[in-house]
Amino acid sequence: MDRAGFDPKDYTRGNAYVAAIGIEGKRGCDLCCGYCVYPCIGGGQMRLRSPKKIVDEIELLYREHGISLFHFTDPVINRPVDHFEAVLKEFIGRKLDVNWTGFFQEDTLDDRLAGMSKVAGLIAIYFSADALTDHGLKLLGKRLTKPDIFKAATVTARNNILTMCHFLANLPGDGAAAVSESWETLNRLLDIHASPANLGTVIFNHIRLYPEAPLTRRLIRSGELSPDMDMLYPVYYNPPRFSHLLHDLEAHCHSAGVFSRLKITH
Ligand code: SF4
Repeated sequence: MDRAGFDPKDYTRGNAYVAAIGIEGKRGCDLCCGYCVYPCIGGGQMRLRSPKKIVDEIELLYREHGISLFHFTDPVINRPVDHFEAVLKEFIGRKLDVNWTGFFQEDTLDDRLAGMSKVAGLIAIYFSADALTDHGLKLLGKRLTKPDIFKAATVTARNNILTMCHFLANLPGDGAAAVSESWETLNRLLDIHASPANLGTVIFNHIRLYPEAPLTRRLIRSGELSPDMDMLYPVYYNPPRFSHLLHDLEAHCHSAGVFSRLKITH
């Protein structure tokens, strides 16, 4: 890789707490969730990079430029599991003093992989289950269940790994029952993370509608969205009835985070 054109350190000067250097371990995502643009950008099949080349790049950036914090830009870092394990072994074999983060799929994360990941330099896990309800997980085509989400949260709590979760609020079809299920799921997650206080943040958004995504096509078919909508400027789905939900959930997480750090239960 020719890095003569720029100094990687320029990327690290902006902040010291979020990884500024991205590493690509693969391209493409075969999960094809119903709202996501990644399979369209990178392809619907994974193209895997050799574990040796991945860690070669990291080692070069570390030894020649002093970079020690990286973020894997893979759509899902731990998929397929055997490729992920091979990357971990490559890290462990080289004993580099580096840390890294990445987006994990919940269903295949267990204590063994979490433990290996920590030894290999994992410093924070990002999850993007995106839905807090059974209906939402189906609607978004996540191929995950709520027990998968709780199990993964338990694994990160038990292994004391800093965890970041992403969720989307006010999904199509959500009514009062979905709102109360969302609260239940969120509170259960906060409970799981309370004692180790390993939940860094929960990031809430509304669904951004992308052209040609299955969910967008569905909303057009149902008449909720105009087929002529220009989506170059971002369009988000957030009908008025529960448009406040995102802020309520966010405020709740902020207060839970503050109280768990102070070891105050509420
Ligand atoms: S949301 Fe994540 S897992 Fe789903 S298709 Fe997009 S990148 Fe893949």
